[in-house]
Amino acid sequence: MRTLICEFRQLSPGVTLPAWVSEGAAGLDSLQDYFKNGSNNQIQLLVDASNATTPIYSDSLPLVESYYLHCALYEMFRSNDIRHTDGTVDKVRLLLCGAYQPKPEIFGVMFDTGFDTEFDHFYSQQPSIVSPPRQGCAIFLNSIYQARGKLAWESQAFFTSIHELGHIFNLGHIETQPNFMHSSSSSGTFMPLGDSDYYQFVQPHKQLLEKSPNSPSIWPGGSKFDPTINPYDGITEPFNENQKSRFGLQIKLDMARRSFQYYDPVELDIELSVVPGISKSFRVPDAVDPGYEIFRLWIEEPTGERRLYRSPRHYCWNGRHLTIAPGKSFNRDISIFGESGGYTFKRKGIYRILAEFSISRKYIIRSTPLEFEIQPVSMSTDSMQRQAVFTSRTSKRLFYYRATPNDESLLEQLISYFNQFPKDSASASFWYNLSRAYAKRLEINSINRDKALAQKIREFLLRAIDDRVLGIHQRLLARQLSETLKSL
Ligand SMILES: [Zn+2]
Repeated sequence: MRTLICEFRQLSPGVTLPAWVSEGAAGLDSLQDYFKNGSNNQIQLLVDASNATTPIYSDSLPLVESYYLHCALYEMFRSNDIRHTDGTVDKVRLLLCGAYQPKPEIFGVMFDTGFDTEFDHFYSQQPSIVSPPRQGCAIFLNSIYQARGKLAWESQAFFTSIHELGHIFNLGHIETQPNFMHSSSSSGTFMPLGDSDYYQFVQPHKQLLEKSPNSPSIWPGGSKFDPTINPYDGITEPFNENQKSRFGLQIKLDMARRSFQYYDPVELDIELSVVPGISKSFRVPDAVDPGYEIFRLWIEEPTGERRLYRSPRHYCWNGRHLTIAPGKSFNRDISIFGESGGYTFKRKGIYRILAEFSISRKYIIRSTPLEFEIQPVSMSTDSMQRQAVFTSRTSKRLFYYRATPNDESLLEQLISYFNQFPKDSASASFWYNLSRAYAKRLEINSINRDKALAQKIREFLLRAIDDRVLGIHQRLLARQLSETLKSL
């Protein structure tokens, strides 16, 4: 038997905690028992809820972004946690939050290492987000309350806590039978509450939990999240060889630039559309993001090696769908240059990337590969200066997390760089991400409508829109955002 401490902690004030957390009563025992029994007495989970009501941040954050969640986890990790030579840890965290931005409907998320590098860790005293993989998760209590109501939200919060802790143990979803690792649908089509069948780990997962104390690929903190370790049966896995390509629906990848430096803030555009000449509509899971198990990006390195893009977080699909109709595509972009643990494209040379989306157990859609080039690093003074600007922590957080810098002087440095080099190939990306980051802040603080900030964002947006390098999807979004801000 191996002991794992799980610290429960409220992220910010103003979130109502379920009684089974705040009163630390039988609920916690029962949570511990599910892990004990599910692992055949191999896991002794000790929930520490003694500081649960002490918020990590003093500001009220009803909507929280992934960047703050990664930072909050780091804040908690600072207490010099022991990490064993095999990477495993003895302590994990569960954050109790309001709702997630930009997906306020999800109930929970599990974290891998954030996008940051060891370099940042070394040179800065600021919090780093290079924490071990699978050491933290979060549940979103306001979202759960909204979906489940007064009577059922506490049990859903209990279910989701066990579910996310299950992901910390590298358990994947099993949707073919009732169990803790089944997804919870916020629309109510699936309701685990009151159905005690769902309150159990099923056999394949029990085997993993039983082996976990001696396995770094299962025990928290060991290997990165990889649900392929789950002993699937050929039917239940999100991707399987019997899946057929869905006729009439297509997925396309694009990048506004095809040759750049490894640190350049490049967005991957993803478009889901009905093939021209087809007149029907399609329903697909609202899960177009590599953070979902059913959506993945394959990367072919210049060496020919193929690997999966590694998302810093893992979402649980909540049963929502998107409708893709003729002439009405779904578009989004992903900051592809960074992934869990660091930069995505570390080698120079030609890369290929392709997307796979498992839209059901029967059907899949696959993009054609997109080719691009990572340029060799140049040692010229200009290039070195550029590299220093782009690899600063402020830039990385702005470009990857769209997090606004806390330090205004660092932001001024960045702005002055792009004013000095308006033709820099990343200029469009800079103004675009800067405006998205501030717009997010404006949205989160929507109560006090800051007109001056709205005007500032519109100026940033115009700089992005005026730049020829901006991607089609980004340009569309930038125009929409500019219109919205005008009406504020
Ligand atoms: Zn899940």
